[in-house]
Amino acid sequence: MGGSRGIGAAIARSFAAAGAKVAISYRSRVDEAEAIVGDLNARGQHAMAFACDVADATSCEAAFRRIEIDLGGVDILVNNAGIIADNLFLMLDDSEWRKVFDTNVMGAVRCSRLVLKNMLRRRWGRIINLYSVAATKGGRGQSNYAASKAAIEAMTRSLACEVGRRGITVNCLAPGVITTDMTDEVRRLAEQEIVDRLLIKRFGTSEEVAGWAVFLAFDFGAYMTGQVVSVDGGLKMA
Ligand code: NDP
Repeated sequence: MGGSRGIGAAIARSFAAAGAKVAISYRSRVDEAEAIVGDLNARGQHAMAFACDVADATSCEAAFRRIEIDLGGVDILVNNAGIIADNLFLMLDDSEWRKVFDTNVMGAVRCSRLVLKNMLRRRWGRIINLYSVAATKGGRGQSNYAASKAAIEAMTRSLACEVGRRGITVNCLAPGVITTDMTDEVRRLAEQEIVDRLLIKRFGTSEEVAGWAVFLAFDFGAYMTGQVVSVDGGLKMA
């Protein structure tokens, strides 16, 4: 979910290249999503775009009904949709906390709930949740975002406990600082400071994250569940 740009778009492209039929969701950027779909289908790969606001339960239900009809259900779910609403703790009001949790946490909860019944029936499924090192390291102005990602990690582990015996794995993918729209401002304000802290002295690319989503979804990742895979240039160790 959330495949119109950034890491989600790279993940969609990587799965399509690996032979999967890909459903790319967007919240607002219909043109970007349609452009990716056009490109993938022109290469002989199989993709469709659909609108879905993961913060809205009705929108999620409608989107997954459409995927069921068009593609016959979901075997691999990537909960990528995420937002930031950074500010110092005392400046954040309830609505900014709710907005971030409704997308980053409840979005993943809603989408996972909608695909799980089919996965349980088929006795196979992969759920990959985008997590962040912000959850463990913290960051100024990121209390709401960091807390939302900590919730995702905790949910990942407990859900993995519930569904492992039914052939379903649930893992987190933890990017470091990746060059996308989301990190525009932090890269502009603190580029050198961040790069100095990294063990690999550059920001990551969306493609470097996407490869690990494919790894987790296919045979190499079959014996991994409840884990966090960090793709962060050593940020976690800094
Ligand atoms: P971007 O801001 O570049 O892209 C966000 C994507 O999520 C877009 O496709 C956007 O759709 C979609 N989206 C946002 N809100 C919703 C919503 N309510 N419903 C459906 N889709 C939504 O983010 P990144 O690619 O940088 O990040 C992707 C994920 O990785 C996020 O979960 C983020 O927290 C996580 N992450 C990113 C890091 C980084 O360095 N970039 C580091 C650690 C974690 P639309 O285009 O239509 O608005």
